[in-house]
Amino acid sequence: MFGAVVVGIGTAGWVRIRDMLAPLPGSPAEKLNVRAFISRRKLDSQQGVSQVTAEEAVSREDIQVAFICTENVLHEENVRTFLQAGKHVCVEYPMTMNYKAALELWNLAQEKGVILHEEHIELLTEDYKELKRAVEGKLLQEGTLHFTGGALKPGFGFPAFSGIARLTWLVELFGELSVTAATMEEDSGNNYSKMTAKLLTSDDRPLMWIEERGPGLPRAKNINFQFDSCTLTEVPPAPRGAVGLFMQDLIHFSAKLAGQVSPGELHREKIRILHCLRLAENIQQLCKR
Ligand code: NAD
Repeated sequence: MFGAVVVGIGTAGWVRIRDMLAPLPGSPAEKLNVRAFISRRKLDSQQGVSQVTAEEAVSREDIQVAFICTENVLHEENVRTFLQAGKHVCVEYPMTMNYKAALELWNLAQEKGVILHEEHIELLTEDYKELKRAVEGKLLQEGTLHFTGGALKPGFGFPAFSGIARLTWLVELFGELSVTAATMEEDSGNNYSKMTAKLLTSDDRPLMWIEERGPGLPRAKNINFQFDSCTLTEVPPAPRGAVGLFMQDLIHFSAKLAGQVSPGELHREKIRILHCLRLAENIQQLCKR
């Protein structure tokens, strides 16, 4: 069994506790036992789980795993604290707000011999799986992914990082990318922002990623992917899967803890995560020029 602590009791942290208390029967997630949570607020017990300080959690021998569910700007510091203490870490995306720090954290995890896992539930959605099937075997000519959503709370960082789920979709669908240009329109008084990034596939096909957020904007992914044979103008609708997304991620993470994920797959995931973070950083730098 692995004892776990959850850091940050927002939406994600709450779901992590819930899922560990009722893991999918027969799955490796049954090996996780939630023992405590950490919060900056003084909270009553949550779903029967009690609060501890970070100092106590890192020193407790019955806690071997940390879930980092805070807002994005605090991920790096929390991940580092727990890796340094020799604990396995599952961090909600994005792992960090810059590429170099992520590389350091992966090296630290390797040095300590522990698992570092970044949650990417967007790759587990039925929508994504349908889209992946629809794209398979087709040759992209050019494409656009335009995401819209409500304004983010403070602490979620630059849109290329807070929206890395969309970038990860593009990389998983079309392979490694490069950034050729990026711009940012902002109206901070109205909490509105629109980031536009121009990307290229490895065979020089243009892809545009737009991340637009503002109060009242509907949460939606608009796509236009032109292939040699056809054009896809919407994400194919798909019914929800039987197992929740965070539960699927929990099973994937716990399979890693149980040594059930091959080194090849672990390596591929690490390469993809670092590639996306590097792209996000390049986009941010181009927007600042
Ligand atoms: P959230 O805003 O619910 O919580 C974020 C942080 O704010 C947490 O540390 C929480 O402790 C703190 N917080 C929440 N309510 C508070 C309050 N009333 N007073 C003081 N602090 C409070 O955000 P979230 O959706 O849980 O996101 C956390 C992480 O999970 C982010 O990195 C996000 O990218 C990731 N994530 C979330 C989802 C999701 O569906 N919510 C999906 C994928 C990834």
